Amino acid sequence: MERKLVSVQRVDHLEPIAGADNILKARVMGWDVVVKKGEFSPGDPCVFFELDSLLPESAPWAEFMRPRGFRVKTARLRGVLSQGLALPVSILPGEVPPQGTDVRDVLGVVKYEPVVTDTREVSGPFPGQVPRTDEIRLQSALGVLDELRGHDFYVTTKLDGTSATFFRPLEGGLVACSRNWALTREASHPAWRMAERYKLDTVLPPGFAVQGEVCGPGIQKNRLGLAEVDLFIFSVHDTRSGRVLGHAELVAFCAEHGLRTVPVEHVVTGEAARTFEHGLEHYLKLAQGFYPGTRNRKEGIVVRPLAERHSPTLGGGRLSFKVINNDFLLKDED
Ligand code: ATP
Ligand code: MN
Ligand code: MN
Repeated sequence: MERKLVSVQRVDHLEPIAGADNILKARVMGWDVVVKKGEFSPGDPCVFFELDSLLPESAPWAEFMRPRGFRVKTARLRGVLSQGLALPVSILPGEVPPQGTDVRDVLGVVKYEPVVTDTREVSGPFPGQVPRTDEIRLQSALGVLDELRGHDFYVTTKLDGTSATFFRPLEGGLVACSRNWALTREASHPAWRMAERYKLDTVLPPGFAVQGEVCGPGIQKNRLGLAEVDLFIFSVHDTRSGRVLGHAELVAFCAEHGLRTVPVEHVVTGEAARTFEHGLEHYLKLAQGFYPGTRNRKEGIVVRPLAERHSPTLGGGRLSFKVINNDFLLKDED
């Protein structure tokens, strides 16, 4: 879940920015964000908007974002990286709710979506047996690092294509879905073309679902530089038991069924896992780099334990998170 796009948080720390009189650098959760001078003191509550928050066009408190299309993006101000937006809690109606409260709906904020689905291409809702694909940003959930510490884990490359989910129900035909919808076979979304190429209607065991990123020419900017569209699997679900396959099982499942996985950058086990430095800065470094064989910056990485685990930080959901490459964000490539 992209939980808490907008929430009440605390300004932990404030520091001046050289050469800037009217702004300060603030720390909120794991984020550095530039704020107006005088709006906050250290320890004050704030309303924190994550990257890709789309603010309402009619609210007076959001008016200053009109020139930016109301979308919260990564910015660099006076050399300082600013990710997200912190506003005073006075923009909230009524009493200030406790830290962590989700205020997306009361403020009328939605998540910016780069692709709008054509309703004529929708065949039905996303199947309830399968979770939607989503990854929390590490900076919004630093507690996951403590949960991962000491466990074997792996790092995959975050591909910048479009999400696809394929589900073979126990009865009835294959369902192919975009991020949010089941799609008709005629849909321009490439999911059905992948389903046909990989014969997923027969290859998938009944009750199984696979999720992957479709990449290639015509999708986003084809940063992988592929000659043709292809599917890269990152999750496999056995919906009969509600189980998600661990990494080794996923790799074996894909090999057995002729599917490709997302690129695996690191598998960290044993002593290396026990001594691994699970710090934000270290992960931000790992997220940098290029797609192999290209000069295109990679979007980032996705980190998961080798054996699936639940995450208290993520409200009991799957322990998994993304770290976006800040060089990619700054080039306005997100
Ligand atoms: P958008 O493309 O809409 O801007 P996003 O890619 O940033 O969104 P997030 O929810 O932020 O979406 O990240 C999760 C998404 O990343 C998944 O839905 C999946 O489509 C995609 N993805 C790409 N590579 C991977 C990977 N290696 N592991 C898991 N998910 C991946
Ligand atoms: Mn994406
Ligand atoms: Mn995104």
